[in-house]
Amino acid sequence: MPEIFAQVILPLPLHDAFTYRVPEKWQLQIKPGQRVVVQFGAKKFYAALVLSLSEDAPANIDLKEIVQLLDEEPVILPQNLELWKWMAGYYCCTLGDVFRAALPTGLKLESKSKISLTGNDDEQEIGEKEFRILELIKQDVSTPDSLQKKLGLDFSYAALKSLLDKHIIQVEEKIDAKYKAKSETWVRLHPDIKSEKDLLEKEESLQRAKKQQELLVHFVEKTGAFQAAEQPVVSKKELLKGTNFSSAILEGLVQKKILKSFQQQVSRIETNTSKQADLNLLNKYQQQALAEVKTCFDNNLVTLIHGITASGKTEIYIHLIDETLKQGKQALYLLPEIALTTQIVERLKNVFGSKVGIYHSRLNSQERVEIWKKVLLFQSDPGEGYQVVLGARSSVFLPFSNLGLVIVDEEHENSFKQFDPAPRYHARDMAIVLGKQNNANVLLGSATPSYESFYNALMGKYGLVSLTKRHSNVELPEIIVADLTRAWKRKQMHSVLTPELFGLMEDALNNREQVILFQNRRGYSPFIQCFTCGWIPKCENCDVSLTYHKFKKRLSCHYCGFSIAMPPECPECGSPEIKTRGFGTEKIEDELKPLFPGKRIDRMDLDTTRSKNAFGRIIHNLESRKTDILIGTQMVTKGLDFEHVSVVGILNADNLINFPDFRAHERAYQLISQVSGRAGRKYNRGKVVVQTSHPEHPLIELIRQQDYRAAFNTQMTERRLFKYPPYFRLIKLVVKHKKPETVDRAAGQLANLLKRSRDLTVLGPEFPLVSRIQLWYHKEIWVKIHPGLPLADVKRFILENISWVRSQPENSSCMVNVDVDPA
Ligand code: ADP
Ligand code: ZN
Ligand code: ZN
Repeated sequence: MPEIFAQVILPLPLHDAFTYRVPEKWQLQIKPGQRVVVQFGAKKFYAALVLSLSEDAPANIDLKEIVQLLDEEPVILPQNLELWKWMAGYYCCTLGDVFRAALPTGLKLESKSKISLTGNDDEQEIGEKEFRILELIKQDVSTPDSLQKKLGLDFSYAALKSLLDKHIIQVEEKIDAKYKAKSETWVRLHPDIKSEKDLLEKEESLQRAKKQQELLVHFVEKTGAFQAAEQPVVSKKELLKGTNFSSAILEGLVQKKILKSFQQQVSRIETNTSKQADLNLLNKYQQQALAEVKTCFDNNLVTLIHGITASGKTEIYIHLIDETLKQGKQALYLLPEIALTTQIVERLKNVFGSKVGIYHSRLNSQERVEIWKKVLLFQSDPGEGYQVVLGARSSVFLPFSNLGLVIVDEEHENSFKQFDPAPRYHARDMAIVLGKQNNANVLLGSATPSYESFYNALMGKYGLVSLTKRHSNVELPEIIVADLTRAWKRKQMHSVLTPELFGLMEDALNNREQVILFQNRRGYSPFIQCFTCGWIPKCENCDVSLTYHKFKKRLSCHYCGFSIAMPPECPECGSPEIKTRGFGTEKIEDELKPLFPGKRIDRMDLDTTRSKNAFGRIIHNLESRKTDILIGTQMVTKGLDFEHVSVVGILNADNLINFPDFRAHERAYQLISQVSGRAGRKYNRGKVVVQTSHPEHPLIELIRQQDYRAAFNTQMTERRLFKYPPYFRLIKLVVKHKKPETVDRAAGQLANLLKRSRDLTVLGPEFPLVSRIQLWYHKEIWVKIHPGLPLADVKRFILENISWVRSQPENSSCMVNVDVDPA
């Protein structure tokens, strides 16, 4: 047989695939898409992915052999790898970066140092500390870290080293499979018992073992042995539940060959028996929109559905998914992470039952592997595999075999973009590529489309479909602009509430209606300050002030997690008068309690939703009207659908509008419309109060009129003038180093090199708003690229210059992140 070589991708930031020899025993089995263990570097082992196989070896290189073949079948299909390649090229990152982002953690492995005995400890003298280490190693404590943990101060590196030197122990690199199928113990009658008569005999034989006899009787009663043709089985857990029988008693029966126990794999994913509901009938506007979408699909167009909040976009998606499934194809429904609530999950599960898989980061890594495998299973067993996936960003990587439809809901959401680490990809744009590669239809949906998508639609690049009526026929909410400055001056504020908002809240609450308040900051106050000397506590690692969290009595950094206890007095001047500044959601909750006595106030932000079920509980309480007022950050703006919310308050629109970013106005408009959309969805027209110190700001007026098109047009004029997307492409380069002078120099060099190209517009370098994060200084360079330029050439030019700058000895260990289409 000719020799075979495998080109593999390693989970490391390396550009190339690496070639390994395939041992003869695996030559017939190995396929692209399988994982293999290979050695890379002196000691480390990795699970790598086979990209391709060939019969030609690269010349004159000494090739290593593959150590192990991990999968019987590929975990990913060749067509899925096309997206990886595209992504690496477009986002200027390595295939290894994509590999790390794509596979769920449970399918990635890395070797760890493991200590084991060599077996020649016989005739050697060892000391007390060495002896204790040896004892632990014999009990399978096998890494230096865990030894240190167990021994605490008694641990000695010298002792460990001496054991190594004496060849009593050795260090090996071992690779652990992270994903293990979960199994449970099940119990049945032993196959030797063939009739009721046998069973009776056995039972009598247990006269001296009363407990065992009782358990056998319990087993027979519980399972009804010999009542059906097939012998019944029951899980051990189920059998012993609510009884006093111990595992030892069961074990006794197993040893006497009366019962038999065996292991059976179980799924970690909840499969609550699904209520299958019929599809809702579409109203006439929705029918019209659906027909238009299909016409666009027939013309092979990516299609944007611009439908106001509560117009029933989700219903249209469900109809399209249904048709896709009927054609035997798979559908992917992408949503931003935080919009993946039980509300939407249940709507889909009601209609599509067990065909739906859910994929997001709140699942643990084992659960993610199971979803991954069930998507893959669809290819060989369409009845058992997942045909629909409702998922967040990373579901674009799932191993679809026959994709027919990709939906990106809330397509304007910038959380579809991965900021860090590489690949810095945008899931909406990847969904479009995925659709093209698989010949699948792509539908984008939003009440406030991103300006890029809307522009593409106006230019005819995308199909455009509009929905302008709410399903319930209720009008969009009325928007009331409330002047913060005026209310402050006239001393009319009720804590953070203008008289307008306060009055509407009182009315709503008196009518048993609910209120949602939006504030863009979590914690108690964004910073604190000494009243006497003006001291403001800052993060040790980042260039930001620390946020005060009252409940935890701590000050913490929202960039790196650094935190300290709230000081009782100013560390600079000793004054006990430390003031909180600004309002976070926690403080608002505190201040509202006395204003609305007896009303139930809840809060939804990162701090209150850390536990797995907290999110669902908050939503459930609002749904069942246990909550009267919900205060929250961005989280409350996403896709939630409640019937009885009639008032929404935006506590401070100014910090949205004045954010220093070319997308600030686009974002502010989107956010305010989205959160407004939570009001008055079903019964009466809702009311939204936008509090601002600049009621005369043109954007505020556009928000009040809810004129998406006018806001879009205003921005387009500026974007064109200042060379921003959609007219120009952007690449953001972030130069990072621990020393500010190195960042300065390297960023300066890079910018100068890039500015030599007359085709590019290069801005910077400049320190961003937060110039130091986790001890690293940052400086940004923005490159604006005319759409007529060949993008691949521009990227190559940029990357070459980055390499040059990084290779200068004075810039050593300088990092440069490349962010294509920064969000
Ligand atoms: P959107 O996604 O556009 O915000 P939804 O699909 O969430 O809107 O619809 C808003 C509400 O109206 C939901 O409660 C939904 O169940 C209901 N609804 C929309 N269209 C229909 C329909 N055709 N039949 C029944 N209920 C509908
Ligand atoms: Zn002070
Ligand atoms: Zn920090």
